[in-house]
Amino acid sequence: MQVKKDIIAVMNVESNLDLRLFSTMRLGGRARHVAKIKNKDDIFEAEKFARENNLKIIVIGSGSNIIWKDSGFNGLLLVNEIPGIDIEDLHDHKILKVGAGVNWDEFVEKTVQMNLSGVEALSRIPGKVGATPIQNVGAYGQEVSQTIVTIEAYDTKTNQYVNIKNEDCGFGYRTSRFKTEDKNRYIITEITFKLQKDFPNLPLYPAVENYFLDNNILVTDPKTIRLAVINIRKNKLPDPSEVANNGSFFANPIITSEHFQSLQNKFQNISYWETGDGHYKISAAWLIEHAGFKNYKDDETGMSTWTSQPLVLVNESAKSTQDLLKFKQKITSKILEMFEINLEQEPELLP
Ligand SMILES: Cc1cc2nc3c(=O)[nH]c(=O)nc-3n(C[C@H](O)[C@H](O)[C@H](O)COP(=O)(O)OP(=O)(O)OC[C@H]3O[C@@H](n4cnc5c(N)ncnc54)[C@H](O)[C@@H]3O)c2cc1C
Repeated sequence: MQVKKDIIAVMNVESNLDLRLFSTMRLGGRARHVAKIKNKDDIFEAEKFARENNLKIIVIGSGSNIIWKDSGFNGLLLVNEIPGIDIEDLHDHKILKVGAGVNWDEFVEKTVQMNLSGVEALSRIPGKVGATPIQNVGAYGQEVSQTIVTIEAYDTKTNQYVNIKNEDCGFGYRTSRFKTEDKNRYIITEITFKLQKDFPNLPLYPAVENYFLDNNILVTDPKTIRLAVINIRKNKLPDPSEVANNGSFFANPIITSEHFQSLQNKFQNISYWETGDGHYKISAAWLIEHAGFKNYKDDETGMSTWTSQPLVLVNESAKSTQDLLKFKQKITSKILEMFEINLEQEPELLP
């Protein structure tokens, strides 16, 4: 294929790159083209380059919630590196406009240093700011949608920049319109957050509350909560820069009350939450553990489950995404057979 040299010179497109560099699971084939985007001009150029060369575009942050197929990506992969944090100080809150390529946890740290409240419980979640609305990241009682005012994005349908208000983002539990009806339509470039100066005395999430009790901590300001969450997460989850993984690999399944009753008759200690609408959310970690995959190493595929959290699948020595999918199949088949539950995968398989 003939590619336009002038565009490559400006935007620095690289070709035939190993996609394992762009997923924290470190598996997958090769990308035809990859470019880093650092500003709006880069996006216009990338879009033009893709149009002229008839290429599909995928934009990513740090690759912590994606897995690449072994067949690779025959298009243009854009890695979002748009920087910048602008802060406006208002009387009881601050408005922060943050570039989509800013590292999420560095942003959280900055907000906590300013003693602002709103995202402190989302500490140590890997990835970049621009990816957080896609699945409405959440942890320890906070969700990013609670602090987002607007999202600035390039609309690849109309070739224009748009500002999407919070109420138009279709946010729900681990979802948004960017993951569903408008998947791959928008390139998110900047997010505006509203964070509070006053720290509301909200009930703490049980794991954080227990940490405070165990460590005799009485102050519940954003800094203390961040520190607690970091310590809890360090003990429970592997660091993707050291251990290849995508965090929780399966979502907690939601089942009907009849299904739940029949399971509870057989498994008295099943771990669950009531959803409030007559359904039951079952702990996927409990299911995996009780299906025999706690602290499990699979020699055939080179995959394992993480010692302190079986919901995390770890690539120890897998050779391909096929190996990971084979291991996933072993787990899901056993769970289907034992509990009649179909576990759903959380990280996205691309393209
Ligand atoms: C150890 C570990 C722990 C985790 N813990 C949590 C947790 O507690 N809670 C939670 O919710 N998630 C968690 N995750 C998942 C993950 O960190 C989040 O989903 C995060 O927001 C992904 O960011 P990223 O930059 O790596 O996105 P990527 O994986 O690069 O991309 C994810 C999706 O977003 C899209 N995307 C990325 N950037 C843009 C953009 N600028 N514009 C449009 N689309 C874009 C991509 O195309 C893809 O569909 C965890 C992951 C790991 C590895």
